[in-house]
Amino acid sequence: MKPENANATTPRSCEWAERPKLERGNATDRKSMPEPPPALLGAASLFLDFDGTLIEIAERPDAVTVSARLARVMQRLLVGLQGRVAVISGRPAEQVGALLGQPIPIVGSHGLEFGGDLARLGKGSRPPALVEALAAMRALASGRPELLVEDKPFGVALHYRQCPAAEAECCTLAEELAARHGLQVQPGKMMIEVRAPGGDKGTAIRTLMRETPFAQGTPVFMGDDLTDEPGFAAAADLGGAGILVGETRPSLARYRLGGVAAALAWLESGVAQNA
Ligand SMILES: [Mg+2]
Repeated sequence: MKPENANATTPRSCEWAERPKLERGNATDRKSMPEPPPALLGAASLFLDFDGTLIEIAERPDAVTVSARLARVMQRLLVGLQGRVAVISGRPAEQVGALLGQPIPIVGSHGLEFGGDLARLGKGSRPPALVEALAAMRALASGRPELLVEDKPFGVALHYRQCPAAEAECCTLAEELAARHGLQVQPGKMMIEVRAPGGDKGTAIRTLMRETPFAQGTPVFMGDDLTDEPGFAAAADLGGAGILVGETRPSLARYRLGGVAAALAWLESGVAQNA
């Protein structure tokens, strides 16, 4: 699924902007999304989104914490899958690494930023126009503490979780900025971002699957958000599967788990069965 036409129309909501692509991409019928079998994990090259998949989404992106349970799961996955596990997040790679505190390969910034030992695989450049985009978002949020502007390595994001009524104006501004500066709109859960174009979580998975040790496994990608749909598509294209975490919705994932707790339980169960 390519992020084409992201700038073509002004969305009524951020989610609306992505929905037609899912319909075109033969999204899985919501009635046919079973839980993934635990055996799926044994031969997997496992790619994991972070927020909303491994940790609950917080009111502010800087308000999350990594539980001892998650740290333990990640350690066991690294050993059990012989290194075939990576986190692919919309956050900056360095930030995810600091939160996890473990030597796990991380791709940040929605697939644009290969962190740590993966840096040789590519690191995008920050578009100069983000200076103006950041100023415009800060102007919109000025005097409105319920709107949070986040400056990221390859994008700037507007979070309206604490003010859902501001969705339309946030999305309209993002669309205008993207159209004016050749940036890509990246909708997410109660946020919208404009970022450097050219990559997504799907391209990140395709890149990693050409590398050792990932090439020795079958790609499985777990994610919760619209930004994860290209990752679900890539995993399926490469003979694997996507696992949607959260409520049912049209998705290119084959399987579904009900939320973060269910995702962690499935990982724990799978790593125990496949150890
Ligand atoms: Mg997420």
